[in-house]
Amino acid sequence: MRRRIIQTSVVLAYLTSSLLAMAGESTGSCREAGVALQVLGSGGPEITDQRASSGYLVWRDGHARVLIDLGPGSMLRFEQSGARVEDLQVILLTHLHVDHSADLPALIKASFFTERNVDLPIYGPTGNEVMPGTHAFVDSLFNNTNGAFRYLGSFLTGDESYRLLAHDIPTQGKSPHTALDDARFRLTAVPVHHGPIPALAWRIDIAGRSVVFSGDMNGDNHTLETLAAGADLLVAHHAVPEGAQGVERNLHMPPTVIGRIAATAKVKQLVLSHRMNRTLGREKESMQFIRNHYTGPLVFADDGQCYPLVKRAR
Ligand SMILES: [Zn+2]
Repeated sequence: MRRRIIQTSVVLAYLTSSLLAMAGESTGSCREAGVALQVLGSGGPEITDQRASSGYLVWRDGHARVLIDLGPGSMLRFEQSGARVEDLQVILLTHLHVDHSADLPALIKASFFTERNVDLPIYGPTGNEVMPGTHAFVDSLFNNTNGAFRYLGSFLTGDESYRLLAHDIPTQGKSPHTALDDARFRLTAVPVHHGPIPALAWRIDIAGRSVVFSGDMNGDNHTLETLAAGADLLVAHHAVPEGAQGVERNLHMPPTVIGRIAATAKVKQLVLSHRMNRTLGREKESMQFIRNHYTGPLVFADDGQCYPLVKRAR
């Protein structure tokens, strides 16, 4: 009986999200002129939601340039998207929870079979007592003497056709940090509160467009409002329903907080992702709480969706 209820709720959630998606500007392909966001993984850590875990691509003029998080399953979606490893210019990590980082070895191994010959920078949070920093994390995977996948150590040493270059971005305090600012894009991070986990929200300014990723956070730092100011699109992680308490609320923001942040920042479009079983099937309720604050375009993400970043009049 419970199984049937769960199946029914999943079907309803799918239908609801499909209908809501029609209100947005999602299309099947990101391989056109201009800048676009593609959702690789719209789920969380569960393996009962028919979704890949967190992962996103920012495309420019038909090339996937920025990969943001790469949770389990996101590399299958990467493949399905038609993106090429050779086109990636940077990887950004919001934090190192499994559902945001576990496909990194899969990407690096896959790159062996590509023509990539340009170094690949990866930016993510510093560490603390419960998490390694990004550099230490990458080293723990690929160090050629003691890494878990030491057989791929040549991707760190320079003995391969390119190097994976890891950089730590500060997670202490509340100040923004510019990771990279050149002719291609500006990448800015702010520390966000995700329980005890060092975590970052990211903003990508590219070709006159801007897209912001909340990552997992609960809103306590009040840093995302400023980072996302005026952004063309905000991807907000909708991992808990309204009324969440305790550990869940210390890790994640409820719909009211998402709505407040989107409204304060005056973002031009809101995409809700990191959807979990506790929020799937409750889209109407979540939307009502968000709508108390934010009145702009709003969609619930599904894997593979593409959102062109178009200029909007407001
Ligand atoms: Zn997390």
